[in-house]
Amino acid sequence: MRNSIEEIKKLLPIPNLEKARKVLCIQPHPDDTDIGAGATIAKLCKKGVEVYYLSSTSDSIGTSDKALVGEKITKIRKEEQQRAADVLGVKEVIWLDYPDAGNYSMYDLRNDLVKWIRKIKPDFIMTVDPWLPYEAHRDHVKTGLAASEAVLLYGFPGVVPEIEIEEGFEIKGIAFFHTAYPNTVIDVDDTWKLKFEAIKQHESQIDEKTLDLFKRYFDLKAREYAKDKLFTYGEVFKVLSPVFLHCFVDAWRM
Ligand SMILES: [Zn+2]
Repeated sequence: MRNSIEEIKKLLPIPNLEKARKVLCIQPHPDDTDIGAGATIAKLCKKGVEVYYLSSTSDSIGTSDKALVGEKITKIRKEEQQRAADVLGVKEVIWLDYPDAGNYSMYDLRNDLVKWIRKIKPDFIMTVDPWLPYEAHRDHVKTGLAASEAVLLYGFPGVVPEIEIEEGFEIKGIAFFHTAYPNTVIDVDDTWKLKFEAIKQHESQIDEKTLDLFKRYFDLKAREYAKDKLFTYGEVFKVLSPVFLHCFVDAWRM
């Protein structure tokens, strides 16, 4: 059987993330986007791209200190995420406040995402890859899947009929980070340090020792991704066009 993938890519090109003008980053928890895509976010913001963060949950169980569980840790996490977003140049941070690791409906989350997509009108969505092998955190799987389905359905007026769709508005691509199947490498030499400055803001989660481990691990990965490129540090994404998200047998190898 002849391998036709290169011809398929010519017919249905992978959208160019670096051409994005307005990006909505949909994350399960505060810090996910900073860790998975922080250097790219900083690069886009420096170029004048409008970037929004939207968190499904507010990390209400994200502490080992019993006294902080609930509202106290949520307040801390929101402040930390705001500081990190400010480091990178993010325009706004939006919170949906679904219960962290809780029993919420992916259907409700998807409809909330459709509402925000129609309101913000981004040309690119960024989110966690729900098809990451061995991903055990349901918030990650649910958020990635809800974001993917929202990208598939936002243009149908029967979905969330109370919110109008602006004529001509179109999402060009969805970029998954924390992915095992990257197809796009972004040169992040100029913003590599900013990524860790942002991650550092999440003090309640990441102590000095963990930050040092992150720096070493992500340094190795970024150099690996940039191998054979003209830059040193690469951040990677699986970028797909909305039409690749349904009944498209080649999506995994695009
Ligand atoms: Zn997370």
